[in-house]
Amino acid sequence: MPGRDKSLRQRHPWVFAGSIAKVEGTPGAGDTVALHAADGAFLALAAWSPKSSIRARVWSFDTRVKIDSDFFSRRVLAAVRARDGLLDAAHNSCRLIHAESDGLPGVIADRYGTVLVVQLLAAGAEAWRDALFTALSATTGCEAIYERSDADVRALEDLPPRAGAVSGILPQRVAAIEDGLTYFVDVAHGQKTGFYLDQRNNRRYVRALARDCDVLNCFAYTGGFTVAALAGGARTTLSIESSASALELARENVAQNGLDGDGVQWREADVFAELRKLRDAAAQFDLIVLDPPKFAPTAQHAEKATRAYKDINLLALKLLRPGGLLATFSCSGGVSAELFQKIVAGAALDARTDAAILSRFGPSSDHPVALNFPEADYLKGLLVRKNA
Ligand code: SAH
Repeated sequence: MPGRDKSLRQRHPWVFAGSIAKVEGTPGAGDTVALHAADGAFLALAAWSPKSSIRARVWSFDTRVKIDSDFFSRRVLAAVRARDGLLDAAHNSCRLIHAESDGLPGVIADRYGTVLVVQLLAAGAEAWRDALFTALSATTGCEAIYERSDADVRALEDLPPRAGAVSGILPQRVAAIEDGLTYFVDVAHGQKTGFYLDQRNNRRYVRALARDCDVLNCFAYTGGFTVAALAGGARTTLSIESSASALELARENVAQNGLDGDGVQWREADVFAELRKLRDAAAQFDLIVLDPPKFAPTAQHAEKATRAYKDINLLALKLLRPGGLLATFSCSGGVSAELFQKIVAGAALDARTDAAILSRFGPSSDHPVALNFPEADYLKGLLVRKNA
């Protein structure tokens, strides 16, 4: 459509339904289509998704390329090779394919040792399922491949949820080894593919900061930051999480790294309510981690999300001792890094606290952000010190 082809010309890989003037024929879900600009110029080859508002997702801006099994083998190989340096004796896990940022819209693949966990989240990815699994198996040599295409976003593509073993048998215990620490991963029932690999660098950061600290870990899930803090010499940890099954695995994760002790506390609770109770009890901590779920999946949810982020950050700042540190995150695509900083600044103001940003957090390098796809830039965080 005239004027509506700008983002495609800038190599953004999504085409929204409202920007399409004319469709020739009746392409089906996942079919490869040629995308033309308003002036007829052939711009890209894309996967068609007739029910989604993201009507087409670009496979290639090289219009001479053939979209076939070989194309997917090449893309998978390139993504896997780019992570070679991330796997070594102390690290057996990383994200191998990060969707659009690896030229594979709708495809996520996380490696945990010899287990590969895959999510296919768009019609095009679904259509090339066999080619993708064949390429992943050949490239990684992984013994077990497990599919977790059961995320809610599949519904937007008119795809039913699907989960289960694709090849091999899932071992009884799947473990992510990271910086020499072992984290059990619930591949079949956990969130996303079971573990938040995107926080790898930030767990390392928290570990380095935790010595002799009383640590509060909010939204602890399977205890990633708790294990890291204890390994870094935390004096005590209190971890809050609403999911009983996640907490159960978190306890195991602490125990099997030999980190359990009297100072390790768990609370199955709502963080919003529990922070208020801690405030009323005048509890104090040296290091607080806030890593909540996505409050704003898109910009439309930003207002409500802003209130939620402000609330927990304000309470956390009150619970910090002078000189204490807050590692605060947002994984909301709808909240930019700039807005997030404003929210935290507003929280400090309302908490009547002087505080400063010491550092900024982002995802680890196996979660690249393609420059033509800023939507991939979802995880942001701040390390804030409450002034003494
Ligand atoms: N920090 C974790 C990931 C957190 S994901 C890690 O590094 O692995 C967000 C977690 O918050 C989920 O485990 C979810 O169950 C939990 N959660 C969501 N809303 C909550 C609430 N209101 N109170 C407590 N936990 C909550």
